[in-house]
Amino acid sequence: MPNRTWTGAVAASARGGSAAFGGWLRTPSGILVWRSAERIGDLTLRQAVDRGMSALLRVSLAHRASGPGVAVWPEAPLRYGKALLRQVEDAEALALAESVLPPPAEFAVAGIEMIEPGHYVAHGTRDYKVWPLLGVCSCPAFTYGASRPCKHIKAALEAERQVG
Ligand SMILES: [Zn+2]
Repeated sequence: MPNRTWTGAVAASARGGSAAFGGWLRTPSGILVWRSAERIGDLTLRQAVDRGMSALLRVSLAHRASGPGVAVWPEAPLRYGKALLRQVEDAEALALAESVLPPPAEFAVAGIEMIEPGHYVAHGTRDYKVWPLLGVCSCPAFTYGASRPCKHIKAALEAERQVG
């Protein structure tokens, strides 16, 4: 008996004040019939997932796909119409959603680590040395004067305040 199961995925991501969904749908024999990504502005991840599911179900209906098994990320109800949802991450759908979002900030501050009093390292895409009380940082934004104080200095000053 042939496998009659349609498969699909919807994923949402958010960055820089925008949310987006990505999704795809394949026939039981694996033919891709729908692949889409849409940036939809100031919505929550859940709302973006809903938009993606609506789009996928419209396409499913048009193809008479019976209750496709759908991988959904990050959050969804367990059923959506006749679709059976599995709450797992799908790399392809997530990559589609990511592809329509603004690029990540070049100098994203993942964390500030105190090396010794007054001397910090800002961990991010690259690590930078920060001396917040001197108002000096080794990042390009500070070095070339685009931003003084830079975000690392501000973050390290905040860390200083928390240390007391
Ligand atoms: Zn900096």
